[in-house]
Amino acid sequence: MQELSHWIDGKRVPGTSGRFADVFNPATGEVQAKLPLASKAEVDAAVARAAEAQPAWGATNPQRRARVMMKVVELLNRDMDKLAEALSREHGKTIPDAKGDVQRGLEVIEFCIGAPHLLKGEYTDSAGPGIDMYSMRQPLGVVAGITPFNFPAMIPLWKMGPALACGNAFILKPSERDPSVPLMLAEIFQEAGLPDGVLQVVNGDKEAVDAILENQTVMAVGFVGSTPIAQYIYAKGCENGKRVQCFGGAKNHMIVMPDADMDQAADALVGAGYGAAGERCMAISVAVPVGEETADRLIAALVPRIEKLKVGPYTAGNDIDYGPVVTAAAKQNILRLVESGIAQGAELVVDGRDFKLQGYEDGFFVGPHLFDRVTPDMDIYRKEIFGPVLSTVRAGSYEEAIGLAMDHEYGNGTAIFTRDGDAARDFASRINIGMVGINVPIPVPLAYHTFGGWKKSGFGDLNQHGPDAFRFYTRTKTVTARWPSGIKEGGEFNFKAMD
Ligand code: NAD
Repeated sequence: MQELSHWIDGKRVPGTSGRFADVFNPATGEVQAKLPLASKAEVDAAVARAAEAQPAWGATNPQRRARVMMKVVELLNRDMDKLAEALSREHGKTIPDAKGDVQRGLEVIEFCIGAPHLLKGEYTDSAGPGIDMYSMRQPLGVVAGITPFNFPAMIPLWKMGPALACGNAFILKPSERDPSVPLMLAEIFQEAGLPDGVLQVVNGDKEAVDAILENQTVMAVGFVGSTPIAQYIYAKGCENGKRVQCFGGAKNHMIVMPDADMDQAADALVGAGYGAAGERCMAISVAVPVGEETADRLIAALVPRIEKLKVGPYTAGNDIDYGPVVTAAAKQNILRLVESGIAQGAELVVDGRDFKLQGYEDGFFVGPHLFDRVTPDMDIYRKEIFGPVLSTVRAGSYEEAIGLAMDHEYGNGTAIFTRDGDAARDFASRINIGMVGINVPIPVPLAYHTFGGWKKSGFGDLNQHGPDAFRFYTRTKTVTARWPSGIKEGGEFNFKAMD
């Protein structure tokens, strides 16, 4: 049995708490590794070492820090196959999807190469007589990221790239479900020239998270995960005086207008609903066809596509559409919600409950499910299922459809499929959701824009990656400078506007 480690001061370090978590291979259901869970003392020691290492890194000029990022991009490309294999083995997603996970993180590191430009402050010449004013963006010191299981490469890279490029030291507490890739990422940063101690990976559970939140040296925390934990971390982090941004769960609606290209919409829905077994915060989990006729056409187009989906282990090759879900508990939760949907009166049009895969009977596979005639009071509509289950809510009109998405407590992503520019424009303008797709089912913004949900999908200020990340991981200092030959008139006693 492999025993994993932490990454402290530039090397793999075994845990000392005596507590471990099982890391599964979701395709077989077997435990493939033991992960040490850090104690408060281990977290505090990692933070203390990071605090020692940070000042020199923060004082390194941004161009040199950017060169480390440049090298990281090269090494991520070099190790792409190795990273994708390790990722699929612990997460379960297909190899092409795992490569996408690494790639979308890598693109944020590419953006971070622009650190020298992004960190430039503002300058006002002659803000007053003989007075210049300028602002500086300075690192916060030691900052932390707490990340979910579903993108074990992308989301840690979204956090560590900008934080490090800004000159901070970074503590990563990755998901305990798939910790191998985050450890490999730390090795890559070291090989790229990052000084020891500047990036620490501390594996753990609630004890490690609480230790981060209570540690007074940690200045900021970026979290991604489920909404109840996001709310907990936001409240506790703020209570401890930290800068905190927390991104939570989702229930993403896709509105299908009567004039939509139905084949295009159905293809998009199948990919966005069932890709990665529905374990994406940007997955579409609710289809909202407008009008009975649109709904009938959409269901007719979806059913054969869903019935053709190939579910299997990542080792079965590139024609697998999606793999297992992450744990046995996740599988049970999904199947329990499916039963609740049936009990509450939804129509199960595609039933994946009996799905079995020969040779992988103990794997955490879930067959695809499609519900029709779902209503907003049902649990399958209100809750995030995070599995291969698509719900269809039939709307009588565009207003009813947009109202459904607006009234839902989550506000991460949404999409509209239509040929009507006016409807699309109205939708993008009025919707109270952070990321909007127009004939694009999973509108994940690229690295140079920012990513973030509204309502119960996001807590705190500023989004992830893009220019917002450079704002989140720095603080602004504004300097007012006068260089006269001396203050000739004596002291100023009034709080003055600049002349
Ligand atoms: P999770 O909330 O269970 O775990 C996320 C992190 O929090 C992990 O590092 C975990 O160890 C830690 N954690 C778990 N329980 C904790 C507790 N009681 N106290 C303190 N820390 C705790 O989420 P998950 O299952 O790993 O990820 C799936 C969730 O993440 C989904 O809800 C999904 O929508 C969401 N997600 C959101 C985004 C986004 O950008 N909005 C992106 C990806 C995933």
